[in-house]
Amino acid sequence: METFDYVIIGAGSAGSVLANRLGEDPASRICVLEAGPTDWHPYIHLPAGFIKTFHMKSVNWGYQQEPGPWTGGRSIYAPRGKTLGGSSSINGHIYNRGQRQDFNTWAQLGNRGWGYPDVLPYFKRLERRVGEGDETYRGRDGNLTVTTMDWNDPLCEAFMEGAVSLGIPRNPDYNGAIQEGVSYCQRTIEGGLRMSAAKAFLHPARKRGNVDVRTHAHVTNLIFEGKRAVGVRYLKGGKGGTPVEVRASKEVILSGGTYNSPQVLQLSGVGSPELLQSHGIEVRHALPGVGEGLQDHYAPRSVARVKNIKTINELRRGVSLWVEALKWATTRRGLLSLSPTMVYCFWHSGETTESSDLQLTFTPASYKEGVQGQLEDEPGMTVASWQQRPESRGYVRIRSADPFTQPIIQTNYLVEEIDRRVVVAGMKLARRLLASKPLAPYYAYEDFPGPKVQSDDELLAAATERGTTTFHPGCTCRMGPADAKWAVVDDQLRVHGLQGLRVVDASIMPRMISANLNASTLMIADKASDMIRGKTALEAVKFPEQA
Ligand SMILES: Cc1cc2nc3c(=O)[nH]c(=O)nc-3n(C[C@H](O)[C@H](O)[C@H](O)COP(=O)(O)OP(=O)(O)OC[C@H]3O[C@@H](n4cnc5c(N)ncnc54)[C@H](O)[C@@H]3O)c2cc1C
Repeated sequence: METFDYVIIGAGSAGSVLANRLGEDPASRICVLEAGPTDWHPYIHLPAGFIKTFHMKSVNWGYQQEPGPWTGGRSIYAPRGKTLGGSSSINGHIYNRGQRQDFNTWAQLGNRGWGYPDVLPYFKRLERRVGEGDETYRGRDGNLTVTTMDWNDPLCEAFMEGAVSLGIPRNPDYNGAIQEGVSYCQRTIEGGLRMSAAKAFLHPARKRGNVDVRTHAHVTNLIFEGKRAVGVRYLKGGKGGTPVEVRASKEVILSGGTYNSPQVLQLSGVGSPELLQSHGIEVRHALPGVGEGLQDHYAPRSVARVKNIKTINELRRGVSLWVEALKWATTRRGLLSLSPTMVYCFWHSGETTESSDLQLTFTPASYKEGVQGQLEDEPGMTVASWQQRPESRGYVRIRSADPFTQPIIQTNYLVEEIDRRVVVAGMKLARRLLASKPLAPYYAYEDFPGPKVQSDDELLAAATERGTTTFHPGCTCRMGPADAKWAVVDDQLRVHGLQGLRVVDASIMPRMISANLNASTLMIADKASDMIRGKTALEAVKFPEQA
């Protein structure tokens, strides 16, 4: 059996950073196992290819969530990347870190070293910010290029002016001192191409020669000796493939993402004894928190019909598309370089909210049934709105002992009343933004939820009818102290009660943050890499108010 120092399961956002950082030690031998293929497909790299990879089974797990009590009986589609770069190879390229309170809350839950001053140096070390940014907050020398949306569109400008007319200020950097305000999106795009975690971290690491990346390697379970994880079993070639085992002399690191990391643990006998026994799996280690606590952002997308200007809906057809293709080929700009969202607006749902609890996005386009993936034919513009820090929690539980059967994903969107209230407040703000004076020359009428929908109950009914995931699942292997029943890993990301095993990905977040999750997942992996290598953590940032 081959032996490496470290075996990393999953070459996604977290796995790519880990491979890079652990591989900095020339003496370390690292094996990365990825269920999906290499990231060769051009749609991964072309920013507008997002709309294609959204449903592309070859690079996407294409999961379905269970219907929840507040999703009108619908099972919501849940894409997840299955290729080098993982979800960062199919995501919407948005770079958004979250608010300082998010990380301070993680620390307050008993996680030492995870407050905002502690995590900020890692956000900085990772990025190469191009454009505006205060050096206290932004990095200039990292691998991950972060640029600002450069699409000059009158609708975006009018939307931002509309926000200003409602008292929401323009914010030059929502990843800086404060998040609140309206801004063009910051994106992981460089030279008109996607900057996935694989491109930024994994591919450079492979060149060093001590990182062995194996694709089409579907991990079925972990190998234990007593309470110590010593290796990993996978099927080479995926379902029906050849069984292979690799050993880790130092550590196994599970970076399979929020849905698959708990699945791999449960398949390996780590989790709730009742769940495991119900599927005939021997309990290796009882840990009831595995898979529990799933959180995600739930967004209804408000749509208005547009007049007097072309939207993306028309630009992506016929001659216009050819013109745009030529523009991208010659300048790397234009429609094909776009992300699914162009403008971000962070605001609060009520006067008593201390920091923005609403995230709204604007796109001069609209989607069939409000689901990203298929543009409508008539001109349209969309404002998606969601509660940033939802209270509702669900779970990920294996459906069977077969590693190729998708786990049960129950997000429980909106089960907590506060979530319903904030989502309704978001829809009201979306309506005001779309109907603002600066957008009036282009605003034809509200299509969804539509003028007949007025009361809070009617808005909530519309939200349950058409809301969808914003693709930000987290919190299924939560970080917390050993005496917290829900905790799966400690603040060094080691699985409680086991040795030689860490979980490092979006699943370890103890609470949902006010952001899309890619930036913080990269940060988690970078910070974890120092822990694994036994290095001293980067020095916490001292803010003037602490001096
Ligand atoms: C459609 C979409 C749009 C998004 N848009 C944005 C956005 O604009 N901005 C943003 O910040 N975030 C966005 N996100 C979320 C963000 O990309 C993810 O939160 C982040 O990439 C998660 O990183 P991860 O390392 O936890 O998991 P992933 O990046 O998903 O990596 C997990 C990896 O493990 C592999 N794996 C899983 N199980 C196994 C197994 N059994 N054996 C071997 N390999 C396995 C997977 O194939 C995958 O490559 C989006 C996500 C999606 C899906």
